[in-house]
Amino acid sequence: MLVSKNLAVNEQGHLTAGGVDTVELAKQYGTPLYVMDEGLIREHCRSFKESMDRYYGGEGLVCYASKAFCCKAMCRIMLEEGLGLDVVSEGELYTALSVGFPPEKLCFHGNNKTDSELSFALEKGVGRIIVDNIYELDRLNRLAEQTGRNANIMYRIKPGIDAHTHNFIMTGQIDSKFGFALETGEAYEAVKKAIECSHINLVGLHCHIGSQIFDIDPFVRAAEVMLTFIAKIKDELGFEVKELNLGGGFGIKYTEEDAPVAYDKYMEKVSEKVKEVCAEKKVKLPFILIEPGRSIAAPAGITLYTVGGRKEIPNIRTYVSIDGGMCDNPRYALYQSKYDVEVANKANLPKSETVTVAGKCCETGDLIGEGMPIQPVEPGDILAVLATGAYNYSMSSNYNRIPKPAVVMLRDGKSRVVVKRETLDDIIRNDLD
Ligand SMILES: *Cc1c(COP(=O)(O)O)cnc(C)c1O
Repeated sequence: MLVSKNLAVNEQGHLTAGGVDTVELAKQYGTPLYVMDEGLIREHCRSFKESMDRYYGGEGLVCYASKAFCCKAMCRIMLEEGLGLDVVSEGELYTALSVGFPPEKLCFHGNNKTDSELSFALEKGVGRIIVDNIYELDRLNRLAEQTGRNANIMYRIKPGIDAHTHNFIMTGQIDSKFGFALETGEAYEAVKKAIECSHINLVGLHCHIGSQIFDIDPFVRAAEVMLTFIAKIKDELGFEVKELNLGGGFGIKYTEEDAPVAYDKYMEKVSEKVKEVCAEKKVKLPFILIEPGRSIAAPAGITLYTVGGRKEIPNIRTYVSIDGGMCDNPRYALYQSKYDVEVANKANLPKSETVTVAGKCCETGDLIGEGMPIQPVEPGDILAVLATGAYNYSMSSNYNRIPKPAVVMLRDGKSRVVVKRETLDDIIRNDLD
């Protein structure tokens, strides 16, 4: 079974994505190559949007977390699908604005936004700036005052939920660099302060409890904790928090071990809880935002490589070397993330081998995976790593001065380049003589 629903094997035994032969793509565009299926991306967007309509009367906004995969084409797709967009830097903000994304549908995140970034966001009229700490509140209030504008903000809150995921990507608990703690009263004091700020309009609260989460329970508990806090603010401070942003983090299928729930289950369960707590505490139903990133982009992407060589180390392992690596996909090096791999030109054969896929960077840890079941693989084969649509291109680097691969987008059986392959001249572009 292939992990993403848009993948199949054709009569020649080649892996296809969105109905397109991936071996042909490798021939046409060269490798390494990122391939994204626009049809599947749009399907994910609609599924989240429909669940917001069905279970919460459409009183919310689905914002794609663009850090998962951001380029102009992707921002344009989100715009056409009617989603909002999360940005976490001036660079992502600039990309979104460059395709005419309405600033009021942007959320600006980050635990250390610079003055320059905050001024840029104010000037462009970004809909919601998610304030991470009290110093940022002060700076933003001052910058807003200087420019005679008001800043619409949400507060990033740590609801203290343990989402049972990998430590590196768990962000809701108290020991996190993101946001205000609830338990210590820090968040409550910050709300009091924001209400008093002259140029700050506190529109909502935000939480994001982690990533690649399969359980719906932690999300439901986070919603409950946040609404209880909103009720306390109303009762004790007489202030109405109108919006609740519940973040992203929905798990996807990287390998057979992963069993994600259907995306619309999430809104169903969370809506139930939100309505229940609001009725019980006599709080007005908030406008809800959710921020899926990985779940929209990851299953829609694969990366194609050419195999250069193999190295059999008796009784230890077999290395298969590819023409990319941690420079285009650092996730195994960072978190030992698991992927499925296929020999794209032999995808009809059984996976009779187990190999370590190694990148071409000068770094022992430059691996795409270890103990990976694969078809018999030899130099010249096209290797496809699956579900690489999120946090691959966006986390890529020029380590070893390797140019970044192109990104090809598939739609209706056709392909087009949406990000050009970098050239050697790109590599030395900023170097001065
Ligand atoms: C990373 C992030 C997301 C998206 O997380 P996914 O796991 O990709 O869905 C959403 N909101 C915030 C604030 C984030 O930092």
